[in-house]
Amino acid sequence: MRNRDSQTFPAWKKGLLTAVLGLTAVLSAAAAREFFLTEETDESAGIRAEESTGETVPVQAEAEPLENRKIALTFDDGPHPYYTEQLLDGLAERGVKATFFLLGCNIEGNEDVVRRMAEEGHLIGNHTWYHVDITTLSQEDACAEIQDTSRKITEITGQPVEYVRPPFGNWNKELECEVMMIPIFWSVDTLDWSTENADLIVQEVISEAEENDIILMHDSYKSTVEAALRIIDLLQAEGYEFVTADELILE
Ligand SMILES: [Zn+2]
Repeated sequence: MRNRDSQTFPAWKKGLLTAVLGLTAVLSAAAAREFFLTEETDESAGIRAEESTGETVPVQAEAEPLENRKIALTFDDGPHPYYTEQLLDGLAERGVKATFFLLGCNIEGNEDVVRRMAEEGHLIGNHTWYHVDITTLSQEDACAEIQDTSRKITEITGQPVEYVRPPFGNWNKELECEVMMIPIFWSVDTLDWSTENADLIVQEVISEAEENDIILMHDSYKSTVEAALRIIDLLQAEGYEFVTADELILE
């Protein structure tokens, strides 16, 4: 359609254009300029021609992308020996950084996965050793759960662990371990573990997600990996930038 219109610009139309320009002399210079530029644009001319025949012109919903809208994907309970690697592949393809809150008890045997997370710029946090409710433990046991996990991660990555996601969202603010940890909670709970349905997870996040949201997922399910990558594609198209969760809590 566009080609057809752009190849022909008959003399009568040029004449008409000249006449129209003469009439628009009474209009402001800016308005006239705009009209002229519009008329010369092949694409606009094509649309104009179609409009005059009464055809319906599909309107492209091209919402202006809002820059700098940040959002964070967080994955708890890993590393998983299979799905975490798949997720890392997808994140790398999309240039996306995410946050992983690891269980100490899942690290053994998956050291390469943990190393890769760090090397590829993801944030690694602590999710306790055995997925415990920290508020039900003595100070000593609670600190051991956290410190053993941080030590294990640091052994592999060489980097200190500063953030913790308390299992069940239960955190004891009074807890005083050797190293103080900063808790990171979430604002959107996908319940991915209960549905294991990629469509539902995508729907939930896309309908709820807003700027600065921290989304809770679990990288132990095929459905979560699929959903996470679809969510990234959809939200990136809307102008979202995926960042590690520390960027959102420190702002
Ligand atoms: Zn968990």
